[in-house]
Amino acid sequence: MIKKHLLLFVFVSFFCPAFAQKIQSPQEFLGYKLGEHFTPHYRIAEYFRYVASVSKNVKLQQFGTTNEGRPLLAMFIASDENIGRLEEIRHNNLKLAGIESGGGSTAMPVVTWLSYNVHGNEPASSEASMWTLFDMVDPANAATKAWLKNMVVVIDPCLNPDGRDRYVNFYNSVVGAAPDPSPTSREHVEPWPGGRVNHFYFDLNRDWAWQQQKETQARVGLYNQWLPQVHVDYHEQGYNAPYYFAPAAEPYHKDITQWQRQFQITIGKNNAKYFDQNGWMYFTKYEFDLLYPSYGDTYPLYNGSIGMTYEQGGISAGLAVVTRSGDTLTLVQRVAHHHSTSLSTLEIAALNTQKLLDEYKKFFDNSRANPPGDYKTYVIKNDNNNKINALAKMLGRNGIQYGFGLANKTVTGFNYVTQKTEQYNVGANDLVVNAYQPKAVLLHVLLEPKTFIPDSNTYDITAWSLPYAYGLKAYGLKESFKPASTEWSVAEPKPLVNTHAYAYVSAWQSVNDVKFLAALLKKKIKVRYAEKPFEAGGKQFTAGSLIVTRAGNDLAAFDQVVTQTAAALNQEITPISTGFVDKGSDIGSDAVRFIHQPKIALIAGDGVNSEAMGEVWHLFEAQIGYPVTLIRYQDLSRTKLGEFDVVICPDGRYEDFPSEKLQNWIRDGGKLIAVDNAVSLLVDKKGFLIKHREEKKEDKDKEKDKDKTVKLYGDRDRLALSESIPGAIYKLNLDNTHPLGFGLPDYYYSLKLNDDIYDLFSGDDGWNVGTIKKDSYVSGFVGAESKKKIINGLLLGVQPMGRGSVVYMVDDPLFRSFWENGKLLFSNAVFMVGQ
Ligand SMILES: [Zn+2]
Repeated sequence: MIKKHLLLFVFVSFFCPAFAQKIQSPQEFLGYKLGEHFTPHYRIAEYFRYVASVSKNVKLQQFGTTNEGRPLLAMFIASDENIGRLEEIRHNNLKLAGIESGGGSTAMPVVTWLSYNVHGNEPASSEASMWTLFDMVDPANAATKAWLKNMVVVIDPCLNPDGRDRYVNFYNSVVGAAPDPSPTSREHVEPWPGGRVNHFYFDLNRDWAWQQQKETQARVGLYNQWLPQVHVDYHEQGYNAPYYFAPAAEPYHKDITQWQRQFQITIGKNNAKYFDQNGWMYFTKYEFDLLYPSYGDTYPLYNGSIGMTYEQGGISAGLAVVTRSGDTLTLVQRVAHHHSTSLSTLEIAALNTQKLLDEYKKFFDNSRANPPGDYKTYVIKNDNNNKINALAKMLGRNGIQYGFGLANKTVTGFNYVTQKTEQYNVGANDLVVNAYQPKAVLLHVLLEPKTFIPDSNTYDITAWSLPYAYGLKAYGLKESFKPASTEWSVAEPKPLVNTHAYAYVSAWQSVNDVKFLAALLKKKIKVRYAEKPFEAGGKQFTAGSLIVTRAGNDLAAFDQVVTQTAAALNQEITPISTGFVDKGSDIGSDAVRFIHQPKIALIAGDGVNSEAMGEVWHLFEAQIGYPVTLIRYQDLSRTKLGEFDVVICPDGRYEDFPSEKLQNWIRDGGKLIAVDNAVSLLVDKKGFLIKHREEKKEDKDKEKDKDKTVKLYGDRDRLALSESIPGAIYKLNLDNTHPLGFGLPDYYYSLKLNDDIYDLFSGDDGWNVGTIKKDSYVSGFVGAESKKKIINGLLLGVQPMGRGSVVYMVDDPLFRSFWENGKLLFSNAVFMVGQ
């Protein structure tokens, strides 16, 4: 009986929230005042779950899980009237946008979405999220109750739980009984890699459009199901700065509408009102611009929302720190500021629901009727099914509609490669994007060949056009054409078991091909590659094509293993019945090389750029599926390198680089892959050929003259711009007869991230695989001085050394993991070079 009563009690208190007398504040629930301690992520999740169990005005959704197994949560908060019709409100947004049919109504609630703590070591905002949630559900709070009449609020308490806990666990483990506000104390110095990034060291606030990380995939997936009218992304900046909120700094992408600009000001003024009342410092219109599309402000803006970034001063501040101006900044204050802008934003949105919805509808009506940009149709040539698939998947994740082929087969358009207007015959499986669609703005920003270039400073890269990133030929057409079909017209490749096959051949042109190779190698299948193009079985194969011969693979289930591996990856393979090829070198010739299964070491830890290292780690672990051993740089000198075939040095500031030790290992057959700044460490080291490109004497003289001219102090930002290259596209000449260029055409679009350039190798000692000429610039901002420098030099080189080799990659081909073609280039360095 007692048990039964107990059960009844649990039932009543769990399922009848109306019985709850009062909802506990975060302080009551956690046992301390917000800001007095850092709250671990699981406790934040517990508070959200607790509120979900006692408030009838919320719905908690776990929409994903991080790499380390932490939950990704979104809390939907609505009035008594609206909480039961969240699905209706969501569908209404999609109807207003024209993504679903039926028109939609502007007499519905506005959706305001608050995203906290995307950078793990900017932790104040997740603390504030609990306070904001409490205010929104507190039955005693009349103001927020009124706002909810016409508004649904979405709170994502922490976009990067793994990074947050990395920071919080660090801080809690080193802080004393009382925090030490001295900036030099160790609690203000995070160890490598820091908490900013996620498990794979990706910056999740650079990943919104690319969606390379699982947190982003889950979140943007949910975001696109809702498409809110207002979105705020909460951050912290260096603790000597005060608070930043909208309106944003120039440059704005020209597709950002007048209304979106205006309402940023309206919101900013409302925030300012409360900051003024409290005497808190802040600034607007400075530093944080609106161009690069993968931020938590620009991505929502390009999707019809009012997207904003808010920044509290606070990185590395711990619970308390003394700032430059001698004040002590505490977590309590930081949390209060983020809480204030949260409420102020919700208030102003609630006061403008009708206008927000009208303008939201207008944004999407315009997108469908009058899309921005010169091109109304984009045709992307299908040279390779895998590559087109990869792009289609990415467009699909962003809700961009596409199809295949055109009824009108011959078209005239801007050729992205030649940069000229040309005629083109459209293939049935070419990917076609018509600009007249709900996501017209986003697709324009992602596909336009030349991003609008600002003349003011920007925070990030200024070029990302997807056809270049994916290495696909594309045409921009001024006329609007609808794709002939929404479906792919080729049958899915069905790998054929052919017990008479002499060998199976696979293309080597895409990341999927690399995955296939990795899967075979892991199954101990011997794989070879063709050093030169050849024809067999009526098909043409390019250099680098993978060849799996029956010879040497003496397992009974050989055909099944190869074909099943291909089928699992949807990989097309061709069985050939003879080693006597139609054209080119026979399968048994020396031009068909055995791929030694490489053991790979990746250098990590202090001195290494964690994001650059994370890109390599993620490529192998999460994308290709091939083992890699991570070695701390400080342990490199005592590591037995002989156990490894490949050592990868990502970008970094390595001190005392052990070039001699590495050289001995290379001469014994090792392969060193040096990327970005790691390349510069090999300059002038005995045995390594790489040299900074010599500036001509007259250039040096000019430089001296320039130094004599009197600079204005007020111009210093602008002058710095002349030597700035935040990220621009250059077209390299590529020697695709060299294994580093396999599977690529005789050019390669590189995202140039600095103005480093090296001398061409002379003589027979090294291979100039990727070189740059005078007119190699394609798109993006490059300062005048840097532009003059980036001509006639080496950007991709291979130096044979003894029995091994060195691969020099001056720009990081895996930058943020969205440069799809760079993944093939990098895989060439790992699997193909030096075999
Ligand atoms: Zn941040």
